[in-house]
Amino acid sequence: MTVYILSRNTKLYSTERLIEAAEAKGWNVRVIDYLMCTIEIVKGELLVVYDGELLPVPDAIIPRIGASRTFYGTAMVRHFEMMGAFSVAGNLAIARSRDKLRSLQVLSINDVDMPKTVFASNKANAKDVIKLIGGTPLVLKILEGTQGVGVVLAETQKAAQSVLDAFYGMDVSLLVQEFIKEAGGADIRAFVINGQVVGAMKRQGAEGDFRSNLHQGGSATAHKLSRKEKSTAIAAAKAMGLGVCGVDMIPSDRGPLVMEVNSSPGLEGIEKATNANIAGKIMDYIEANIKPTDNKKPPR
Ligand code: ADP
Repeated sequence: MTVYILSRNTKLYSTERLIEAAEAKGWNVRVIDYLMCTIEIVKGELLVVYDGELLPVPDAIIPRIGASRTFYGTAMVRHFEMMGAFSVAGNLAIARSRDKLRSLQVLSINDVDMPKTVFASNKANAKDVIKLIGGTPLVLKILEGTQGVGVVLAETQKAAQSVLDAFYGMDVSLLVQEFIKEAGGADIRAFVINGQVVGAMKRQGAEGDFRSNLHQGGSATAHKLSRKEKSTAIAAAKAMGLGVCGVDMIPSDRGPLVMEVNSSPGLEGIEKATNANIAGKIMDYIEANIKPTDNKKPPR
C-alpha cells in the first residue's frame, strides 16, 4: 500500500504523526509537496511529475492543503482522485469547506444549526444589514479568513456600521452573524472520521477574547460531547461530505451551533488533549476504503 501525504512541511506535528501511523501499518508513505507537483494531461492519461520523477499512482492520498493554497491544492487532489487514488478528503468537499458562506448554505439545507448569518455585497447599506441580523452586538467575518483572523466583534451600532463601511469600501466580502454571548469565548472541536466522533476538545479563548482559536492564544482540554453535540458534529461532517474533518461548534442556549468544518484539521491539539491515536484512526479509515483488488495503472 502506498500513501502520499500532500503537505508542504514534513516537520509539522500532523505530518510526522501521519507518517508514523502509516509506517506502523507497514505501508509505503511519502510526503509530497503539492506545490512542487506538475500536472501533465494528455488524451486518456493524467500524470504527475514531481522533482523530475513520474509519480506512481498511490493507493490513497491524505491532503493537508493550506488555506492560502486551496486552488492549486484542490486541483492536485482532483488529479490524484481521477488517477484512481482514494482521498481522505475529496477535492469538492475541500473546496466547499474553504468558503464560509458556501459551507453555511450546505449546512443549513441539511438541518444543521448555526448562528443566524447575513451576507450582502458591498453595495448594501450597512444599516439595513445590521437591522436584518437583529442589531448589535454582532460578529463580522471575512469570507476566507482562518484561525480567527478577520473575525471581529462589533458591540455597538456605531462600531458595526463603521467596520462594515470600512470593509465594504475596500470591496471585502463579509458575513454578519448574531453574536452568541453565552459561548463565553469557548468552542468545541469534534474530530470526525467516517461518520464517527473519534475525539473532542474544548478550546477556551485567551482572557478577554471572544475567539477560541488556539492560534489566538486559546487553550484546549478534552471534552465529553453531549448527545446533541455528537449528532450535530456527525450531521455536519455528512453534509459537507468529508470522511475526515474537524467540526467546530459553539455552545448556545438553543444547542450547539456549527461555525465551520475543517477539511485539513490539525492533529496536535486533539491528540494531546485526548491522548487518542487519531492519526492511526485515519489509517484505519483508509484501510477500510481500499479494496485489495484495486488495480492501479503503472505510470507510463
Ligand atoms: P476562523 O475560521 O477564522 O477560525 P470562526 O468563524 O471559526 O473563524 O471564528 C473564530 C472563533 O470566534 C470561533 O471559534 C468562536 O470561538 C468565535 N466566534 C465565531 N463566531 C461567533 C459568533 N457568531 N458568536 C460568538 N463567538 C463566535
